[in-house]
Amino acid sequence: MTYDVVVVGARCAGAPTALLLARAGHRVLLVDRAPIPSDTLSGLYIHQPGVERLARWGLLDRIRASGCPPLRTVSYHVADVRVSGPAPTLPGVDGAYAPRRYVLDTILAEAAAAGGADLRDRTSVTGLTTDDDGRVTGVRLRANGGTEVTEKARLVIGADGMRSTVARLVDAPRYAHHPNLTCVYYTFWAGVTGADFQIYERPGGWVAGLRSHDDLMLVAAYLPQDQFDRVRRDAPAAYRATVATTAPALWQQLTDATPAERLYGTGDQRNFFRQAYGPGWALVGDAGHHKDSINAHGITDSFVQAELLAGELGGDLRGNLGDGARVDAALARFAAARDALMTPNYRTNLLTARLDSPPDRIATLRVVQDSPDLTDRYLGVVAGIRPPDELYTRELLAQLSMLDGTRR
Ligand SMILES: Cc1cc2nc3c(=O)[nH]c(=O)nc-3n(C[C@H](O)[C@H](O)[C@H](O)COP(=O)(O)OP(=O)(O)OC[C@H]3O[C@@H](n4cnc5c(N)ncnc54)[C@H](O)[C@@H]3O)c2cc1C
Repeated sequence: MTYDVVVVGARCAGAPTALLLARAGHRVLLVDRAPIPSDTLSGLYIHQPGVERLARWGLLDRIRASGCPPLRTVSYHVADVRVSGPAPTLPGVDGAYAPRRYVLDTILAEAAAAGGADLRDRTSVTGLTTDDDGRVTGVRLRANGGTEVTEKARLVIGADGMRSTVARLVDAPRYAHHPNLTCVYYTFWAGVTGADFQIYERPGGWVAGLRSHDDLMLVAAYLPQDQFDRVRRDAPAAYRATVATTAPALWQQLTDATPAERLYGTGDQRNFFRQAYGPGWALVGDAGHHKDSINAHGITDSFVQAELLAGELGGDLRGNLGDGARVDAALARFAAARDALMTPNYRTNLLTARLDSPPDRIATLRVVQDSPDLTDRYLGVVAGIRPPDELYTRELLAQLSMLDGTRR
């Protein structure tokens, strides 16, 4: 049989793409070389717009039923400034969430299967088939080290992560690329008190704490990329030193404790956009666009892209997918919308990943911390549910210009 779509990669980009396309009536094959369930190297934070999509897809209750708590309180600490308050909410969304990836990804993949997608885990894409015009027409698969099989499809979607096999096989060019800026290490700690989502920053260090299942808090420490070679020689010591110096209030609680798991980490924090589509293929999630994990947007952005792509491929299904020109037009709209939506966060992310806590940011947060209204606005901007302009009220601008005047 010819599938309408083969989706390669069954985590937070691929599984919702398959879910939405299958629910819309497409014949979908979803493959992943990893077993399901399985863990992956990742933080866990899902911003409210991502949680909203889980709710819309009917999956938030399953996340809650897995024992994952909502993150209802937030605190930001930089220099002597502390901005804290309730996490922003949306209708039906009681905060951010930070489910373990082996829970989240499994819920998503099972939902795709329940929605009608054929799901094959432990199955690797090893090649693509093309027609005489070079249009991708299917995938070559190898299940669990077995023999190779071919599956035909009208569209192959690479949701196979930053090192995407599909992107390599179609030779998708990168058109924005910035150097790696940070490296990151994280582990999990029991019994940590304080806000559910805590951020601490200082020049040269950034620490994030987020509450997940079993009352464990993931504590991540970011350091500059140019220290990675030194840091990796004794990562546990560098992790502890970064948390101690960047987040002393948090470190007080951890100093005599033993982490609940081993230390995980990476220096491979790439920043790029890849061409999102070509004849018979498309990329979604990290495969097409990757950024430093510091602002924790990868999962939410994957959900947003999945919804965009499925929405553009849309309603008239088999007819639509049978017509290459119409598919290409839908993919072009997806690509343009992806770039328009992802570029502002990408730029902010590059600034954050410089780890330089610029004085104007500290001055802004110093004004914000004293005002409940500005605090709400700031937390809303960080959550991605308010545009940045909404922070810069007359009150904030007046206070900043006063400060500027006293400095002169
Ligand atoms: C240290 C760290 C912390 C992070 N913290 C956060 C955070 O707090 N919040 C957040 O939103 N994001 C965070 N991110 C980013 C987030 O992990 C990614 O953006 C997200 O996982 C992207 O999902 P994806 O589905 O595109 O790719 P992936 O999660 O990488 O999944 C790709 C899948 O494709 C499969 N695959 C690959 N090649 C093949 C093949 N040839 N055949 C079959 N299957 C294949 C893989 O097995 C894998 O399961 C973090 C990342 C890191 C590294």
